[in-house]
Amino acid sequence: MAEILVLVDHAEGAVRKPALELLTLARRIGEPSAVVLGAGAAAADIAAKAAEFGAAKVYVADGAEFADQLVVPKVDALTQIAKANDVAGVLVTSSGEGKEVAARVALRLGSGIITDAVDVRAGDQGPVATQSVFAASYTVESRVSNGVPVITVKPNAVAPEAAPAAGAVENVSVEFTGNAARVTSRTPRVSTGRPELTEAAIVVSGGRGVGAAEGFGVVEELADALEAAVGASRAAVDAGWYPHSSQVGQTGKQVSPQLYVANGISGAIQHRAGMQTSKTIVAVNKDPEAPIFELADYGVVGDLFEVLPQLTAEVKAR
Ligand code: FAD
Repeated sequence: MAEILVLVDHAEGAVRKPALELLTLARRIGEPSAVVLGAGAAAADIAAKAAEFGAAKVYVADGAEFADQLVVPKVDALTQIAKANDVAGVLVTSSGEGKEVAARVALRLGSGIITDAVDVRAGDQGPVATQSVFAASYTVESRVSNGVPVITVKPNAVAPEAAPAAGAVENVSVEFTGNAARVTSRTPRVSTGRPELTEAAIVVSGGRGVGAAEGFGVVEELADALEAAVGASRAAVDAGWYPHSSQVGQTGKQVSPQLYVANGISGAIQHRAGMQTSKTIVAVNKDPEAPIFELADYGVVGDLFEVLPQLTAEVKAR
C-alpha cells in the first residue's frame, strides 16, 4: 500500500490533536508512516500514540538542531525520509510553521503543494485535496500532478479515529544542511487554561460589538462553558480590548473549528478569511443586515449582552 508520511506535531512530550487528525486522513489515501522529530525522551510515547492512530511505521530523528534552529532541520529530515522511502504523499498540519516546512519540502522534492486543505481523499491519480476559497463561496478539489504530493491540512478537518497499527520504530540519522535561523530565546505563552485557538474544536469570538475590554467577559463565560478558545476581530484587537494573538482573520490566525460563534462581528471579508471553513457558524449581531449572517448557519438578531448570558446559562444547565 502507498506509504504516506505524516509529520507529527508534538509539544511538551505529547502529540497534538491535529497530528492524530492527519493520521486518520492518511489512512484514506494509503498507509500512514509517522515522522517524529526532536522529541527527545518522549519519542517512544509519541511513537506509541501514532501507532494507536494507524501509523504502520514511525520514523524517529533526534538532535539538538531541532530545538536550536527554526524550520530547516525538519525540512532536512522530512525530505531525506521521503526520498529514501519512495513515499506517495506527505501530510503536514496547516500551521504557520507547518506550511513553511511543507513548502520547502515540496521545493526540495521538486513536487507540488496544496495548502489549507479541509479534506483529503483517494483519487485515481493520487490524493485529492479539498480547499474552501473566496470566503467559502467555492469548494475546490485539486491534486498534485508532479512528484510526491505535499498537502497541508487545517486542524479540525476530521475527527481523529483510533486504528491500532504496528508502529515499527525506525531511527533515522539526518544529514543537517545547517545555515538555518537560530532560536535565541523562547518565552512560553501565558496559559489561559483554554484550548489553543487554531486547534480548538469550538471558538467563541468577540468583535467591536462587545464595546470594551470588559465586554469580553460575556464572550469568555460562554467560551468556558463550551470549553472553547476565545477569538477576536481586528477591530477589537486594534482597540486594545483583546491580545493580537487571539485575532482571527487575514492578518490574524486561521481557524477551522467544528463550531465558530461570532459575537458583535460584522463579517468583513478579512475576518471571514480566517474562519470561513468552520463547520458550523453561529452569529449573534443586533443588525439583521450584518454580512456575517450570509455566512452563518444559525443567526441570532439581538444584543449580545442579553443573548450570551442566556446561552451560557443554557449550556451550563445541560
Ligand atoms: P465592525 O465591522 O464595526 O462590526 C461590529 C458589529 O457588531 C456590527 O455588525 C454591529 O451590528 C455589531 N454590534 C454592535 N453592538 C452589538 C451588540 N451589543 N450586540 C450584538 N451586535 C452588536 N479584521 C479581522 O477581524 N481580522 C483580520 O485579520 C483583519 N485583517 C485585515 C487586513 C487588512 C489589510 C484590512 C484592510 C482589514 C483587516 N481587518 C481584519 C479589518 C476588517 O476589514 C474589519 O474592519 C473588521 O473585521 C471589523 O471588525 P468587527 O466586525 O468587530 O467590527
